[in-house]
Amino acid sequence: MIEKLNPEQQAAVTLPAQHALVLAGAGSGKTRVLTTRMAWLIQTGQASPHALLAVTFTNKSAREMLARLSALLPINTRGLWVGTFHGLCNRLLRAHYRDAGLAQTFQILDTADQLAAIKRLLKASGIDDEKYPPREVQRFINGAKEEGLRPDAVEAHDPYRLRMVEIYRLYQAQCERESVVDFAELLLRCYELLQRNAPIREHYQRRFRHILVDEFQDTNALQYRWLTLLAAGGAPIFAVGDDDQSIYAFRGANVGNMADFERDYARGTVIRLEQNYRSYGHILDSANALIAHNTARLGKNLWTEQGEGEPVRVVEQPSDMLEAQWVVDEIKSLIGEGSLRREIAVLYRSNAQSRVIEHALFSTGIPYKVYGGLRFFERQEVKHALAYLRLMDNPDDDTSWLRVVNFPTRGIGARTLEQLSDLARERGTSLHKAAHLVGGKGGGNLLKFAAMIESMAHEAQVLPLPELIEHVVHHSGLLTHYQSEREGADRLENLQELVNAAAVFAGEENFEGLPAGRMVELPAAGQADAAGDFAAAGAAAGSDAAGAVAPVSDAVAGDAADPGAAAGAASSADALPGAADLIEAGARQGMSPLAAFLSHASLEAGDNQAQAGQDAVQLMTVHAAKGLEFDAVFITGVEEGLFPHENSLMEQSGLEEERRLMYVAITRARQRLYLTLAQSRMLHGQTRYALRSRFLDEIPEEHLKWLSPKVRVPVSSAWAGTADVASGGWNAQRRGDAYGRPATGQIAPRSPRSWASGVTVGQQQFRIGQGVRHPKFGDGTILSLSGSGQDAQAQIQFRDAGTKTLALGVAKLEVI
Ligand code: ATP
Ligand code: MG
Repeated sequence: MIEKLNPEQQAAVTLPAQHALVLAGAGSGKTRVLTTRMAWLIQTGQASPHALLAVTFTNKSAREMLARLSALLPINTRGLWVGTFHGLCNRLLRAHYRDAGLAQTFQILDTADQLAAIKRLLKASGIDDEKYPPREVQRFINGAKEEGLRPDAVEAHDPYRLRMVEIYRLYQAQCERESVVDFAELLLRCYELLQRNAPIREHYQRRFRHILVDEFQDTNALQYRWLTLLAAGGAPIFAVGDDDQSIYAFRGANVGNMADFERDYARGTVIRLEQNYRSYGHILDSANALIAHNTARLGKNLWTEQGEGEPVRVVEQPSDMLEAQWVVDEIKSLIGEGSLRREIAVLYRSNAQSRVIEHALFSTGIPYKVYGGLRFFERQEVKHALAYLRLMDNPDDDTSWLRVVNFPTRGIGARTLEQLSDLARERGTSLHKAAHLVGGKGGGNLLKFAAMIESMAHEAQVLPLPELIEHVVHHSGLLTHYQSEREGADRLENLQELVNAAAVFAGEENFEGLPAGRMVELPAAGQADAAGDFAAAGAAAGSDAAGAVAPVSDAVAGDAADPGAAAGAASSADALPGAADLIEAGARQGMSPLAAFLSHASLEAGDNQAQAGQDAVQLMTVHAAKGLEFDAVFITGVEEGLFPHENSLMEQSGLEEERRLMYVAITRARQRLYLTLAQSRMLHGQTRYALRSRFLDEIPEEHLKWLSPKVRVPVSSAWAGTADVASGGWNAQRRGDAYGRPATGQIAPRSPRSWASGVTVGQQQFRIGQGVRHPKFGDGTILSLSGSGQDAQAQIQFRDAGTKTLALGVAKLEVI
């Protein structure tokens, strides 16, 4: 297991029990070292598998880690504490819901649910949502929570912030009332629980003898505190990370944690790895050259023994549709040459890009799988079905109540609901409990709905999970509704997929055949010696909320039931003393299969379990690709304004984060890398024209191979005012020929206006690449244009004032 590693990696794996930081570039084996260290600690008897706590960035990587671990050691990985921060916190909170002040059936709000809850709150409280836009409120609340701040602790002096804090307080009260927690709350609650409750804290501090963290560069302030709190009992933290891959600063991640950790804990134990085992030379050198343009770096070298490999291929296409078609044609030929579909990834900077690519793949009949984006569990019909299921578990969940009370329609109008909301607020109760208070016809319909929910909850006590979902889809009226809808077939298919996903989940978690709503009983505290008898129940209650995170109950049943642990790795120190037993035995009520599945649906990062085994081309954003690797990678939309994203260009730090993102993207590729771009693309309903990304020019020519002529002049000069534009059409046929590719004729006719590569505002014509002068910002060049007429906007790179996006109708620009 260790012999296959290089000396630096071996040194890291076999470090004595002390805090350590592995700081190394992409593909240098950080994750492999971390996993191997876990295996080594177990095998050498230094820790039982259950004494390890490992934090990964996504559920996908948690699953991969468990798979790698079980390949290294003959142990049962079920029940191990390996998962994301959210998954692990969820598990802790489920075990100690009472101490955490939560209802046993608390539900998790995903980002969209949270936004809906905020909108509802603003409306109910009569707060102006133009002055306090829901998204900004959401950002404010999550930002505060990520810094560990409750409303009372948030500093506010101006009226605007004071009001925001007030909204935060109201929101929190609403969440308590409805027994729901958002993602940030999972962490904060868990942190507060550990901090406040000494017995629980000390128990886990004793329990976890080693803490291991992957992708450490992307931890936020609260996560860092959570880790150090758990480690305060003496468990060493083994953290691996790469400052060049810090890509979540926009969400509060703090790369400074690495420096802090080194200073405060890992002083003197920083290990660097410099050999890259993933990519061929051209790919690696491209990444190295690119990232060298960043200033704030800890500095690392990466080299490979693998030889140069093939150059990075670059392709520019006239439109996003032709770009997508090119990518798909190339994928087809890769598959023809024997590549596995799942070893091919198409990456994009922005989710909005995926539609065109999906369409091209779909038309060609190539199976593909999209990660992130509109995740399976976020699809409208799936969310409707889940809302019914949540109500079965917790009828006081007002968000779910409102989602489906009149879907499909049941003659319950806005007025009735307003009346209901008012009554519920007055009495300080849930909508469900207030339903009988409303009179009239609307009130009658409300009662019918409430009765339906109760009867479904009753079914949950007898039907296994997949059957329960079928029952709900049928009896809620969703089935008939979608059958009669024109686009309903797809939606019904997704609902069927939900039933399949539940069946897979129930199987994996040993819930098969168990009634969905029944709490799984586990042995009471002090009966741990009988745990063997409860092996099945223990696993069953091991309702893994986060995919890879396993049972809350393992403390009771897991350790004893796990053959791996029993095989002798467990040292006496890991045997839970009697009092500690009691602590985790709080989890003995376990969870019902339904509750477990609902947590899973909220936390699952978009993988459709039911399709997990399928060989499909992988589509995802660059953010979602972190830590993964593929034989062939296509990075699409390598254009100014898209990658780097226009929002990032205001500040130097924003641009550097985009560059790190590109570095992450490039370093996902093992053998082949493609960079593709389009001269025009439809984004958010507008045609945009852009120049190639500056990042392309930061990669030395010797590593690149242009498959289309490299356009040296700005796109616009070659285009504006040509006959094509004047006649209002883009000659797809001719363009296609010019690029040596058959024209596909896929470009849909659009209005002439949207085809011009310049826009006219008043008397003035603007084009990409044109020089302009602004009274305040000085001279600059137009990078991209969007919109038309008075709505037209230009992104302009000013010589001295940086990049700005200006409304052309308003900005006093002079063409120079
Ligand atoms: P990232 O920064 O992208 O997360 P990483 O540093 O975590 O990358 P890994 O994913 O652990 O890198 O390793 C990259 C690839 O190199 C993997 O396929 C891994 O199995 C392989 N690898 C790592 N070390 C060695 C080694 N010593 N010998 C052979 N292959 C190795
Ligand atoms: Mg990694």
